[in-house]
Parts: sequence; structure tokens; C-alpha cells
Amino acid sequence: MAANIQAPKGTRDILPKDSGAWQLVEDIMRDEASVHGFEEIRTPVFERTELFERSVGDTTDVVQKEMYTFLDKGNRSISLRPEGTAGVVRAVLEHALMNDGAPQKLYYLIPCYRYENTQEGRQREFHQFGCEAFGAAAPVADAALIALAHSIFERLGIRNLSLEINSIGCPKCRGEYHAALKAFLEASKGELCGTCLTRLEKNPMRILDCKTPSCGEITQNAPVMKDYLCSECAEHFTAVQEYLDAAEIAYTVNPRIVRGLDYYTRTVFEFISNDLGAQSTVCGGGRYDGLVKQMGGAQTPALGFAMGMERLLLVMQAQNITLPRPPVCELYIAPLGRQAQVKAFAFTNLLHQAGIKAECDLCDRSLKAQMKYADKIGAVFTMVLGDEELKQNCAELKHMQTGEKTSISLGEGFLTEFVAVATQTEDNAAMGLDGLTVDFEGFEIFEKED
Ligand code: ATP
Ligand code: MG
Repeated sequence: MAANIQAPKGTRDILPKDSGAWQLVEDIMRDEASVHGFEEIRTPVFERTELFERSVGDTTDVVQKEMYTFLDKGNRSISLRPEGTAGVVRAVLEHALMNDGAPQKLYYLIPCYRYENTQEGRQREFHQFGCEAFGAAAPVADAALIALAHSIFERLGIRNLSLEINSIGCPKCRGEYHAALKAFLEASKGELCGTCLTRLEKNPMRILDCKTPSCGEITQNAPVMKDYLCSECAEHFTAVQEYLDAAEIAYTVNPRIVRGLDYYTRTVFEFISNDLGAQSTVCGGGRYDGLVKQMGGAQTPALGFAMGMERLLLVMQAQNITLPRPPVCELYIAPLGRQAQVKAFAFTNLLHQAGIKAECDLCDRSLKAQMKYADKIGAVFTMVLGDEELKQNCAELKHMQTGEKTSISLGEGFLTEFVAVATQTEDNAAMGLDGLTVDFEGFEIFEKED
């Protein structure tokens, strides 16, 4: 017999036991982005290879080593997106979104692809939540973006993240710095890795970001950009810090943060976790004032960040953060006999229409087996439907945790009676049954005021 096919290296199935946590995290991200005035953008999973070469930069690890590139049947070079910014910039230009006014604030939740050496927190298919803002040059925009990322971590209950910020200047001041850095590195040129040798000519600052230990040692005492900032960049960076202070967001200035992609200017930042091993950067971002123009658009200041979903979930796991998991089933109806099965199905359907998670037997199981199943899926209530119940037109609603039983009519009042019983139980909040409206706290305030 042929061997079973397994998922490709570096990919992971997200199984039902975990997808609930993913959804909760995603919901918080979407909600927080929307609170901050960001709207979702969805772009293709693949783009023309050129897009990434021109935007991410052809001296980066991402483009040089990690891209999934292939020729399609029309002989075009296509790449799976290694990150989200390039596609967003392309879409902003292609649809002239800046004509709608500045700033344009966009977010995305996407799978990305990089041909990496796989490790914990480093996969070939991984997921990013990212935010990008276009048309905002003021330092308050940098702080606002950092504040958005920060508030997501707060809402997720993640602790011990350090925010490290730096400024990598603008093309004007970077020239002098590059010259100084090059002069410094020239002495140890022979010991640099192959990639860094190319970087030395094209973008020497990126050598500070090299993961090869020997390169790390060489750059230990290298000059840093912070000391070469022009007055505009220095003022901008000081102002970013003032805004962060005003919002009481703690940070440290780390002059060695340069970010892995070529397009950054001025502010760059990372949120780093102490609970992850080598893959400790949970979120990275910064300003990229030159990218839109470089891609053929008008000069447009812009900035963004991306956080890795897998790493975020690993930190949450390491910190034992559990998100409230709503029950999979609120009412399990166990029918006995054909007539009861039809009735159970009709009731289940009615409950579904009211947005209640209900299930009935789909496997022709015995009552005992059905109860075992209801227990396994964690049904909050169960209700047995047999001949006697049908004859009496009423049944018993059993709360599985407490064992408490309540009689319930099988007539027209069924739904109302079920909701009345269910909302009295302790799990009503978890069941999202508060008044059967919306389980979002903010809305309760409005309802109370009415
Ligand atoms: P690293 O230095 O760890 O390779 P990076 O600088 O390549 O990260 P970015 O391109 O800035 O990462 O991507 C933003 C975030 O996406 C990272 O901070 C990380 O959380 C996540 N990320 C990047 N690559 C991977 C990957 N291969 N697997 C899982 N998450 C990833
Ligand atoms: Mg990387």
C-alpha cells in the first residue's frame, strides 16, 4: 500500500482543538484595528516576483533565499507572498486609494510563505496580522501604530514583551553613516558571511541584522545610525518617544534594531518576548517613507507592522493564557425512535435559526451512547425525546454540570422557555446568550441606558 501523504515540511494543520484560540485572537485583532480606524484589505497570495524584488529588496534574506518562486504556465515569474506590505502597496497604487484622502489605514490577516529552516516559531507557511498607514508623516503616527500593536498585546493578556525602538534615518543622513560603517567593516571584510559581503556594497546597515554569529561579533562595536541622524530625523525620533511617553507605553531605544527588509526609514521597532527561544520577535515594523515612490507612486510617507500569529500563540501558551472558549454545543437533543428523531431534527433547526448551538443524533446511536457523546462535546444542556415526552408535549432540560432538571414545553413556547432557563445558568455569558442579542460588552451599556 502506498504511504500516506503528509503535509509539506514547515506547514501545520490548525485543528479544531486549536482553531477556537486562533479565531479569538483574530477577533481581538480585527476589533482593535477597527477601534483604531483601520479597515481590512485582502490581496492575492501570489504576486509577480518583481514586486517583492523591488519592494522587499533584492539584498534581503527574504528575497535572496526564502521566496517560493516559480514560472506559471504563461512563463511568468510568480512568488508566494513572503510578507504583506508589498502587495498592500501595490494595491494602494493600483486602485489609487490615496485619492480618497490621507491617511489610508489598512490591516490584513494573511498566510505568508518563506522557504526557511524550520524550527519552533519559524515555519514555511505562517500567518501575519499586519497594519499599514499611508500618507501620515507626523511622529504621532508612529506612536499611534505602536500603540495599536501594544493594545492588542494588552487585550490578549500577554506580559513581558519588551518594545525596542530605533531610528534608521533617511537616505540623506544614511549616506554618511554607511560610509562610516563600511570603513569600520572593511577591516574584517574577510570574516563576513557571503550575504553580508554583498550587503557591504548595497546596504551595509543590514549587516547589523545578520543572524550568522561571526557577523554578530564583528558588528559588536560598529558605529550605529542613531549617532548619525540628520536634525529632521533626530527631531522626529525624539517626538515619537514623547508620544510614547504620553501614552505610558514603555520602550527602550536599541540602536541595533535595523529590521530585515530594505524599505524602512526613520522609526523601526520590535516587540520581543522573553518567553520564546531564538525566535523571539513577535512583532516588527516601522516607517517606509520611500517605498510608495520607489514602486512608481507619488512621494507618500507610510508605516506599518506585522505580527506573527504562530509566535504570538506560542507566547500565550508559554504564559498559560487561556482564552474563554465558548461551548461547542449548548443543547444536545437525544431522540428515541423515528418519530422523536424527526421532532428532534425540527427543534434543532429552530434553535439554529435563533443562533443557538444545538445538535441531535446523526449516527442512530443508543441513548447511552448519545449521552456519552453529549458529555464528550461538553454540551451545556441535554434533553431526551422519547414517546412519553412526545405524548405529554413536554420534556426535561438537564444541565449537565449541575444535574439540575427543568421541565420545558415542546409546544410553541419551547424556544422562549429554553432561553429563559439557559440565561439563568452560570454559563450564560460564555454561551453568548445574554438576552440573545450581542455578547459585546460595549453594547450592554447602550441597552441599559434605554
Ligand atoms: P526573523 O528575524 O525572526 O526571521 P523577520 O525579520 O524575518 O523575523 P518580519 O519579516 O519582520 O520577520 O515578519 C514579521 C513577523 O512575522 C516576525 O516578527 C515574526 O513574528 C513573524 N515571522 C516571520 N517569519 C516567520 C516564520 N518563518 N515563521 C513564523 N513567523 C514568522
Ligand atoms: Mg526572517
